[in-house]
Amino acid sequence: MAIQPEFEQEDEWEAFLEKSDPRKRVQKKFQNYSWSFGIDEDDDGFTRDCVILEVAAQRDTEPRHVQVKLSSKHLRLSLHGDVLIDDDFSDERWLSVEDSYWELETKTNKAGERIKNIRYLLYLRADCTKYITKTLFETEKKELPDQDDSDDDTADTRIKMIANLKEPEPRREADVYFSEEEEFSEYECEGCGSKSVSVMKKAEDRCFKVYCNDCPYVSVADMNKEAPSIRRQREIDEARARKKKEKEKKKLAEKLAIEDQVPVDLAELEEVD
Ligand SMILES: [Zn+2]
Repeated sequence: MAIQPEFEQEDEWEAFLEKSDPRKRVQKKFQNYSWSFGIDEDDDGFTRDCVILEVAAQRDTEPRHVQVKLSSKHLRLSLHGDVLIDDDFSDERWLSVEDSYWELETKTNKAGERIKNIRYLLYLRADCTKYITKTLFETEKKELPDQDDSDDDTADTRIKMIANLKEPEPRREADVYFSEEEEFSEYECEGCGSKSVSVMKKAEDRCFKVYCNDCPYVSVADMNKEAPSIRRQREIDEARARKKKEKEKKKLAEKLAIEDQVPVDLAELEEVD
């Protein structure tokens, strides 16, 4: 069974799984390029962490039109003499310059036309435990201002995230009690608030009552009072049902938005070509 977090940590955990799944390459798109991070097979058949940087090129682009200068700190890439990328990497410690290379690939776009694309495979150094999931280049930090730089995404922080995960208590039925729970300590005097009470059914009583030890107040004891763990379980079930509904709503809204967008997308493609 997969690890399951407590309800309150669920969103954070899902985001973590999404981010740390190497099979899901999350694309980050910018004006001149897009990039993704994940595992890829290198020329020797080894799977390695790498960034794939993609830059769209004109149809008549040949390798000789591509000019590249790569160092661990900086990339300058120009096509047909136009500089498309001239930027510092946001982190200069991870890139294995000697292993990285680019290739020119021909693809067919949605409209069925053949387009060219530069695929730059930027491999991580073998001794690097970092994951490139936030920004690739320095200027991206300005475009994505709400990123927090402070905690680097490294193997260490990921292991800590998993190690600190608290699993929820097992589900329990209403008539099952856990020994460490204080199921019955919740009664208090409704008159003075004192927790020093006795719950009992005296000879003249028709039901159980709460007798206060500090004042003369007596009230009917609610024998069906929920145990704290049962209450929490019920509240989480309700919150989960609400969240599920909201998610479904959001999905539907996104679906409708995509349907609306189709003509716009095609218009954009035609303009580019
Ligand atoms: Zn009292």
